[in-house]
Amino acid sequence: MNNNEQLLNYINGQWKRSNASSTVPVHNPASNAVIATVALSPAAEVDEAVRLAQAAFPAWRSTPVVERVQPLFRLKMLLEENLDALARIITNECGKTYAESVGEMRRGIENVETACGMPSLIQGYNNEDIASGIDEHMFRQPLGVVAAITPFNFPGMIPFWFLPYAVATGNCFILKPSEKVPMTSQKIFELLEKAGFPAGVLQLVNGGAETVNALLDHPGVRAISFVGSTPVAKYVYQRATANGKRAQCQGGAKNPVVVMPDADMETTTRIMADSAFGCAGQRCLAASVAITVGGAKNSFTEAMADVASSRTVGYGLDKGVQMGPVITAQSKTRIEGLIGAGEAEGAHVLVDGRQKKVAGYEEGNWVFPTILDGVNPNGEIARTEIFGPVLSLMHAANVEEAIAIVNNRAYGNMACIFTRDGSVARKFRYEADAGNVGINIGVAAPMAFFPFSGWNESFFGDLHAQSRHGVEFYTQTKVVVERWPLEWSRQF
Ligand code: NAD
Repeated sequence: MNNNEQLLNYINGQWKRSNASSTVPVHNPASNAVIATVALSPAAEVDEAVRLAQAAFPAWRSTPVVERVQPLFRLKMLLEENLDALARIITNECGKTYAESVGEMRRGIENVETACGMPSLIQGYNNEDIASGIDEHMFRQPLGVVAAITPFNFPGMIPFWFLPYAVATGNCFILKPSEKVPMTSQKIFELLEKAGFPAGVLQLVNGGAETVNALLDHPGVRAISFVGSTPVAKYVYQRATANGKRAQCQGGAKNPVVVMPDADMETTTRIMADSAFGCAGQRCLAASVAITVGGAKNSFTEAMADVASSRTVGYGLDKGVQMGPVITAQSKTRIEGLIGAGEAEGAHVLVDGRQKKVAGYEEGNWVFPTILDGVNPNGEIARTEIFGPVLSLMHAANVEEAIAIVNNRAYGNMACIFTRDGSVARKFRYEADAGNVGINIGVAAPMAFFPFSGWNESFFGDLHAQSRHGVEFYTQTKVVVERWPLEWSRQF
């Protein structure tokens, strides 16, 4: 696992070593061993990638859509054949378990499959005789060069929220992956190369903030897709739109889940354990706050304490491991600090995952499942995205009070409820101030053919990732009104 090899950019169909003056190491979070080095590509390299993508655009845009999707069909097969290799890379650089890495890739592949339907998805609409002998049509045309900037927590899935839709609609696409997990993209681009996309249609530029700024400022980039923390999402949205670009920027989250007294406690606890502690709590759809209603308090608290303390934590490629490390040593310190801050605000640390080690991986970034009981709904910890395996418990007297807690926050990525009562579920679905809602579901992740609908501080923009939203985001509509009087042709 010890390797200092510098990862490459992929520009115009060629693998290129960046001339960046700065590089950063990539670590395996389970051991902190350095497993690669990644360049922080400078603005000049972004400029080269954009110009070569612009040069590739006219031919790609005029390639019939039925041909543009052919490399995506090949890509789907290549991703299936390389699922194991991809999952191992994800686990090694991101920390999640092998099963979670496979699950992540499945959701990525689903987007490739969905975009293969682009011949239908990109269709416009029309009316004959909007006035006598005059017809009106709407066509969708690609924008040109578009770029995506992605976070550390789903290196195999999130690039595919954007890439397949962007290229199938006829755009050229630049990916700037997270510098914490750049190895997965390296492998994905090897497969994209084999899938047979023309040179310049897909570019990979590694880097950090300077690289992002160069994309946001480049006049040749028409649209920016971003996923990451809220402060950076907001910044990227403002800078991209100030530069006249389209932008869709998904931010952070603090997801509440309501547990009603009639919920099936066995199922609820099992699902909640996966939602709160799966991927070490580093999912933007992780349950982060559980609000028990009425009599649910005691049984749920007890059951969750049991599952939290019995979860097997370790290196994600080892057998039987149910939860991996958090991404960096800094994350571990930050998460442990926030657990302490919750305690200082009056919460009781019911299960304490701080200061733990895994035998054989003593240097890893370990935070074990943690439960903070009695968190103040109006305190700081109730509002702060912890992004680690920490579940906060709150209590409400009835569903109205629970929904008020759900809606009293800045984020709006996901809200869930566990109940057997349809009318309570319907009320929750109707009133919850969140774009993704789960009913007896712990991670309400939209399938590829639905938009990933974060709201409020979890999203800046209007068209979301995936599905028809992706098609609309990456195309501009052209409306044509036409008149072809019969008497004109009689002249010839
Ligand atoms: P991050 O915001 O630190 O980084 C995301 C990307 O932005 C990376 O590519 C990074 O290089 C770049 N970046 C970081 N700082 C920058 C700056 N100052 N200027 C320009 N670019 C910058 O996020 P992360 O830690 O990689 O990911 C975790 C966050 O992502 C969490 O907040 C999580 O909730 C969020 N997330 C949201 C969704 C969603 O769908 N809403 C999905 C996954 C993750």
